Amino acid sequence: MSDEILSLIYTFSKKFSDPETNLSFDPKNQNISVVIKDGNVNISLLVKGQKEDQYTNIARLLKNNVEQISGIISVNVIINADVENIKTKNDDNKRFKIDAKNIVAIASGKGGVGKSTFSVNLATALSSLDLKIGLLDADIYGPSVPRMMGISKKPIMNENKKLIPLENYGIKLMSIGFILDSEAPTIWRGPMVMKALEQMFNGVEWGELDYLIIDLPPGTGDAQLTLAQSSKLSGSIVISTPQDVALTDARKGINMFKKVNVDILGIVENMSYFLCDNCNQKHHIFSKDGVKKEAEESKIPFLGEIPIDTNLRIQSDNGIPALIDNPDGEISKKFISIAKILKKSLD
Ligand code: ADP
Repeated sequence: MSDEILSLIYTFSKKFSDPETNLSFDPKNQNISVVIKDGNVNISLLVKGQKEDQYTNIARLLKNNVEQISGIISVNVIINADVENIKTKNDDNKRFKIDAKNIVAIASGKGGVGKSTFSVNLATALSSLDLKIGLLDADIYGPSVPRMMGISKKPIMNENKKLIPLENYGIKLMSIGFILDSEAPTIWRGPMVMKALEQMFNGVEWGELDYLIIDLPPGTGDAQLTLAQSSKLSGSIVISTPQDVALTDARKGINMFKKVNVDILGIVENMSYFLCDNCNQKHHIFSKDGVKKEAEESKIPFLGEIPIDTNLRIQSDNGIPALIDNPDGEISKKFISIAKILKKSLD
């Protein structure tokens, strides 16, 4: 369904061309990214030059057109200025402060590929290696990490007016959903996202951490750029499913991180295959080895593949990560292996 909507959106967007480069905003154009989640559409245009009026006009027309597509609930078009000159490395004066040895952002080109599931289980796997872990749910389109972590309380403030993270399974958790209005998440503009993210760093009593894992919103929007500019990101991990539509969007995410000098620590293939209970065969529902090939072509480390697993879905719904529910299971072993590769690459 969302793939059909996606191609309808592109039939509108490709009628417009970038006033600066004259390139049409078609699916091959790296400067447009579209994210659809539960009927909410977020379109982000990465633009160059000073032609602000023309870009604003395109954004308005695009929004008006896309809103007409049946099944769409809301449309948000964000214009991001080009970021080629942003300095992100070796800068100790970052605005977002946290006492974490490593900050790792978990990203995906589109929603629903398992980014939050991965974030929760990677955090748990790192925690099982005796590391101090914080988990920051920054997915403004649908913060689901608290539920997957079995947390339903809201955080309270301490005497220094800082929020105390909630804790479960030895992991500290904060979610942007705790401080933003969940009724209207898709209409937040850049400055509000930026402010909320800053509060998640500077306004939270995280204490000392070995790793802060950030579950990013899907796509290539403001949250990604804000974190690249304002925090000391160690790098990002991109999650994708193996089929072409997901990979096209993952590629855009990879290019965006490259542009802002954020290291890509690796790419993970989720929902790689389904192991059938009856015939014990691997079924490659979303195509085979798509992410592995992409990793080779983009020269990015391939961190591993996670199969479609009914228990993983049930564990997520029940708020019990795989490593807590079944520490010796195959899925837990996959996450431990990825956590060890990550640790090795950052040590
Ligand atoms: P995203 O953060 O990319 O939007 P989620 O992590 O919320 O995606 O996952 C979307 C849905 O798919 C959830 O119901 C989750 O439990 C399920 N899911 C994710 N990965 C798997 C997997 N490998 N096997 C089975 N279900 C999965």
